[in-house]
This record gives sequence, structure tokens and C-alpha cells, in this order.
Amino acid sequence: MKDLYWSNKRTVIGGIALAVLLLILPACKGLVLNTVLKTVEPYFHGPGIDGTELTPLSERVYTFRWNWYRNLIVDTDVGLVVIDPMNREMTTALKAALAARLPGKSVHTLIYSHYHLDHTSGGAVLSPKVVIAHSKSPDYWNDIPHPDLLWPTQLVEGDQVMMIGGVEIRLLDLGLSHTDTLFAFYLPSERLVFAPDLGLVKTVAPAGVPDRYVPGYLAGIERVAALDFDIFVPSHFGVGVRQDLLDWRDMLEDGRRLAREAIAKAGSFGTRSSQMSTYFQTVYPPMREKYGDWHGFDEMFILNLVRDIEGEALGH
Ligand SMILES: [Zn+2]
Repeated sequence: MKDLYWSNKRTVIGGIALAVLLLILPACKGLVLNTVLKTVEPYFHGPGIDGTELTPLSERVYTFRWNWYRNLIVDTDVGLVVIDPMNREMTTALKAALAARLPGKSVHTLIYSHYHLDHTSGGAVLSPKVVIAHSKSPDYWNDIPHPDLLWPTQLVEGDQVMMIGGVEIRLLDLGLSHTDTLFAFYLPSERLVFAPDLGLVKTVAPAGVPDRYVPGYLAGIERVAALDFDIFVPSHFGVGVRQDLLDWRDMLEDGRRLAREAIAKAGSFGTRSSQMSTYFQTVYPPMREKYGDWHGFDEMFILNLVRDIEGEALGH
């Protein structure tokens, strides 16, 4: 009888605890989600990031920024070449900015730097005559919904030297790096490189750079860094110089090296207890010392740490 009493009491207590848990869980989940979103929010938004801006970089080259995205526009004798439309809101704003700055000029060629939909949507707004993509890109687009993609008219792979309206645009096929459809763009006459999703200027990576194969990615950076250029244009945030790309490479390599050291101390992911604090203590102080003043360091540190540990542990 006594056993039954306690058993019932435990059941009741357990039931109440479960009910309370079920009641507060959605709120907790919301809180956790809210906290994570609030933590990363300042990486993507803020003064100097929000808004649009068309900026000349040389006599023939412009860059257009739409919030944290940025693309490249080349003014050639046959019309404009736009590399990466990104999305419909961006191309709509770009079209208006181009009409004001370069009235009467139409878009001749649109080039996609890689297949990712956040770089390849909204191109129809620009009404280009020619649309160029990597030959492997349609394989991905055929697997996923792509509601606002303007389908390419021309597929290419391997390094390319294109002469469009008197301007030489070299495409470097970077292989398996950030997808296996990624090109970097070199304009020798302008001493300029546009390297979408391959580097940033004094800004840490967003969430470890999604869809990245690190060995190929670092090799891609080395290929681009070996070119003879001055102006480095990334596809996000500010414009810089060649040294900024080298600094970015160093930051990535430091993160990976420290992740290797952390694994040597605490073991590979999920093999021992209390690993996360050892990982953090090994990687955070030296990274903060060197890169603490870069944009997004605090917001992205944990996400980048997890990506580096995972990449080192699994080999990608
Ligand atoms: Zn991408």
C-alpha cells in the first residue's frame, strides 16, 4: 500500500514536472532561438551594412552593394557585364542605380560565379543577352527548386579568358572549393579581382563559410592571391586590397591549426567528455588576440569554432 502510495506520488510528481516542462519548453526554445538570432544579427546588419550603394572602382568597373551583398559591373563597348545578380530585390535596385549613373547602357552579359541560389536569383530583371554559368551548375539546379533563376545560355568549365567589348575578363575555375562550380574573376587591365565567397575584408567568416571544402578552398585562395592585382572585391561587405585576401587566408589557417591543437588535447568530436571547453580555451584567446577587432568576431566565433573542429575531425 505504502509502495503504491509512493509510486503514485512519484507518478503525480513526474506528471506535474512533465506538464511544466511541456509548458515552458516552447518558451525556452523561443528564447534559445531568439538569443542565437540576436547574437548573429549584428554580423549581417547595422550602420554601413544596410542600404545600397553603386561605387566606381576604376574607369570601367563598378561594384554595387545591397545590404551585406556586393557584385561587380563592367562597362564594356558592347554593354554592361554583371557578375552575380544575387536576388530580385538587389537587381531591381541595381537597375535603377545603373539607369541613373550609366543612362542608356544595357546589360550584355550576366555571369554566375557559382550555382548557389543567393548569388544566382533575380537575373531576369537585368534582361541580359548572354548568361554564363559553370557547366556543373545545372546538375544542382535540377535537384533543387530555383523559382527565380534565369537559365544560362552558355555553360563553361575550366579557366577562361573572355574578351567582352574590349575588356579582358579571366575566369579561374577553382574546382571543389566553395561548391565545385566556383569561378574567381581577374581583370588584368583594372588590376582587380572579384572573388565571390572566397574572402572578406577584415571580417570573419559567416558560420564557417557554408558549403566549403577547406583544402580546395585554401588552394583557391592561393591561386587568386598569386595574381598580379591591387583591388580585392569580395561578394560581401567592404572592398579591400590584395593584402586583405592574404590576411583572410591567414585567419582561416590559424583557426584550423588551433582546431587541430584543440583536438590533439581533447580528442576528436564526441569521443570524450568536457571537450567543448578545451576546444574553446585552446582556440579563443589566440584568435581574439589577432582577430578580435575584425567585424563579426564575437558573433561568429562559436559557429566558426564548431565548423573548424568538425572540418579537422572529419577531413573537409
Ligand atoms: Zn556561395
